[in-house]
Amino acid sequence: MQDPNAQNERIFNKRRKVLVEELVSRGIRDDRVLTAFEAVPRHLFIDTALSHRAYEDTALPIEMGQTISQPFTVAKQTELMEVEPGDKILEIGTGSGYQAAILCEMGAKVFSVERHHQLYDRSREILNKLGYRPTLKCGDGTVGWSAYAPYMGIVVTAGAPVIPESLKRQLDVGGRLVVPVGDEEKQVMYRITRKGEGEDDFEEEKFSIFKFVPLIGRQGWSK
Ligand code: SAH
Repeated sequence: MQDPNAQNERIFNKRRKVLVEELVSRGIRDDRVLTAFEAVPRHLFIDTALSHRAYEDTALPIEMGQTISQPFTVAKQTELMEVEPGDKILEIGTGSGYQAAILCEMGAKVFSVERHHQLYDRSREILNKLGYRPTLKCGDGTVGWSAYAPYMGIVVTAGAPVIPESLKRQLDVGGRLVVPVGDEEKQVMYRITRKGEGEDDFEEEKFSIFKFVPLIGRQGWSK
């Protein structure tokens, strides 16, 4: 008899390839992003009861009333950061750990902050099990993580009411902050690029509309 686990893995591998094709058809072009999506087993970042839906292009519930972002959203945010291997990247909202895994797979030095202890513990466990070694912290990510700043990329994976000022300040010159900003219903994806050392040397670009769980903290929504 065939090993059912090996058979499942083969099915998941196939579905992952189909998902990558879907991302390409939706306009994702960065090969590094697509290669990482083909490698990272998204089904291991969610509850086993949902693993049959892991490769649908949809957000799914995780613990603490949060979600693992839709694959297209993760791909788009990652692409907007223009990650190069070795770049120092800060993620706000570790959640399931999936986005952190994608960034590690791309060869980035990953730092990620999550406010819920339970999610911090869970994501650390699965990331370590898979051999990914991001530096994780439990706390309020709206103020960034100054100990390791500056970063070439900062990605906020929850919806912010305004662009958190501390995050802008922790960008390296040439670095990019990708953050969804809006009300609790929908947010516009912003990309802020630091052009130089100066206080106000930033470029701001806007992309399409998304819907995220709220960013809660000092420079986010209050509880
Ligand atoms: N990147 C995640 C998406 C998780 S959803 C993934 O790939 O699964 C967004 C996460 O942001 C939630 O887990 C939520 O608890 C967290 N979050 C919200 N506000 C935060 C804050 N101020 N600091 C850190 N994490 C925060």
